[in-house]
Amino acid sequence: MRRPAALTRVTFWLYLGAALAAAWMGIPPLGARAAQSLHHDLAVRLDPASRELLVEDSIAVQGRDSVEFTLASRFAVERVLVDGAPVRVAPQPAQAGRNEWRVPLGQLRQAATVAVRYRGRLDPLPNADHREVLRGLPPMADPLGSFLPGGTGWYPEIGRTFFTYRLSLDLPDGQRGLVPGRLIDERSEDGRYRATFAFTRPAESIDLIAGPYRVRERIVRRKGGDRLRLRTYFHADLADLADDYLAAVDKYVALYSRWIGPYPFTEFSVVSGPLPTGFGMPTLTYMGARVLRLPFIRTSSLGHEILHNWWGNGVYADLDRGNWSEGLTAFMADYTYKEQEGPDAAREARLELLRDVAAIPPGQDTPLRRFTSRSHGTSRIVGYHKGTFVFLMLRDLLGAPVFDAGLRLFWRDRQFRTASWADLEGAFEEASGRKLDRFFDQWLSRSGAPRFRIERARVDRTASGHRVRITLGQDEPAFAATVPVVVTTPTGRTEFPLVVAGVRQEFVLDVSARPESVALDPDFRVLRHLDIAEMPPILRQVIVDPATVTIAATTAETVRSLAADLSRALLDYPHALSDAAMLPGGGPLLVIGLSADVDRFLARANLPGRPQRVVGRGTAQVWTAYQQNGKVLAVVSAESTDALRALLGPLPHYGRQSYLIFDAARAVERGVLPAPGREWRLSPPE
Ligand SMILES: [Zn+2]
Repeated sequence: MRRPAALTRVTFWLYLGAALAAAWMGIPPLGARAAQSLHHDLAVRLDPASRELLVEDSIAVQGRDSVEFTLASRFAVERVLVDGAPVRVAPQPAQAGRNEWRVPLGQLRQAATVAVRYRGRLDPLPNADHREVLRGLPPMADPLGSFLPGGTGWYPEIGRTFFTYRLSLDLPDGQRGLVPGRLIDERSEDGRYRATFAFTRPAESIDLIAGPYRVRERIVRRKGGDRLRLRTYFHADLADLADDYLAAVDKYVALYSRWIGPYPFTEFSVVSGPLPTGFGMPTLTYMGARVLRLPFIRTSSLGHEILHNWWGNGVYADLDRGNWSEGLTAFMADYTYKEQEGPDAAREARLELLRDVAAIPPGQDTPLRRFTSRSHGTSRIVGYHKGTFVFLMLRDLLGAPVFDAGLRLFWRDRQFRTASWADLEGAFEEASGRKLDRFFDQWLSRSGAPRFRIERARVDRTASGHRVRITLGQDEPAFAATVPVVVTTPTGRTEFPLVVAGVRQEFVLDVSARPESVALDPDFRVLRHLDIAEMPPILRQVIVDPATVTIAATTAETVRSLAADLSRALLDYPHALSDAAMLPGGGPLLVIGLSADVDRFLARANLPGRPQRVVGRGTAQVWTAYQQNGKVLAVVSAESTDALRALLGPLPHYGRQSYLIFDAARAVERGVLPAPGREWRLSPPE
């Protein structure tokens, strides 16, 4: 996390897919809300070339006898006024490069204004790679792009209180800038650009962005006649993307306005930045220029961030009682776009989500209710993937019209307020007229996922056709779920939704034609632990498992040290290398080495050998297989040390693949092996 734990804000780190997966983090707001009202009126003058910032903030407070705020110690406070009269105050050094200021108001005041003027110099842009940059952005300025993140002490911060604000921004001409909120005035005069914004909803922080932008605008008239201002603030070399982005924003805003309720703000802007980052805030998203060129941003991440204007920045998640906003947003954005592509893409997406769930190492799974924000890979799977499945199963249970009615009720009743899982449950109960406490309680409070299986199935002939007697089993303690079971006959497929509640249950399924096979949840509609036969092995399985052992199949020191580097780059939990002389124990394995050594090692350790499809191809080959004990084996085999070194950058981005062929650093072929499947073949009746 990039800010002290006591400070959070309504900013969502973008999901940047495989290319920048490490950059994804949801930091939604806290539930605490102060009764005292607070309003900032800021005049901000920024000179990106000299990095000088000059601010006058008039803070209107109510019901206080003093005002305490913190400000980054890089700023020199020039004066403090209480209701226009100068006061003398001295700062106390506080944590994290800040000073704390305490301005006494003399007595408990119904209303007072504290004005603070300060100036200081911001950081230059870092030239670090994105991982570095994401760890903690200070306020920084550059003619190429300035970014003053909220929560970094660039304006007076008063506890964890929500506030409203108005901000006038003054920049050299040629620069444009913005903060979240409604643009109420904008002009160029005297060689300066000036714009004023107002944010009238409860805000937790202010992010300020400026750059040498070309602004493109589209005004959308909404039902009821009010106007929605869509903008791109792009660097000149991105101008060709502006219209596509505006069209995409328009489409997403319309989709969710229809689905949930009117878009709750008056603007939405897509803003480019010089750093390879991505953030979502109310009314805008800020992304690196390189990121904006990635095709999946427009087709997926952008919609996800826009939807956060409803879930997260419109209704706030109550972190103390769990963050529902990421799961709901992932379901209504990322997963929904797959459904829009078609049934095959949606099924593929469900399989991917479930295989990530299956990859959670034993003991690391937590109940969805305990998810607050993403801090590592496993919590993302819980918060986003399991969350997606809970909403998918709920929609299957209630039917889409009732589910959607529940969403709209939730929005109507909770907008700009804090809400918990219980509030969501209440909205769906109201919409459906049924009790959902057992559904929510089970899927939110239990960790892990059920392992449903067909234990027995046999066919009898009946007077009118055939009957399949099927026994479904699962481990103790049993989950309750509706599990689709599909019987295939020569004339087609029949689906039976079976209501399962115990560890072993028999069901009778009548079909007219002779049944050939029966399959449990073949379309992956239930949150469950997949059987190994349903999952082709992929790299991710070794990546996320803390038990993964890396073996350097070599005696050469250079190869060994490259193998150690690669293991650290790839694995979430890298350990010291194991030696090729040691035969592997019982866990997941990552074997790294030069081709001949790798083949020798696999043969000696009695592990699956090099698959035919990668033999002799490219400068390096990567593949996965199951060991006899069902654990995954991943192999990285290169023809030379240079070829091995070339994988350090790219390989960590290919977790979803079963095999890859590299030509130096370029993946020239990759893929997922087909799963063997898990059908129960039925013999004909006796
Ligand atoms: Zn999100």
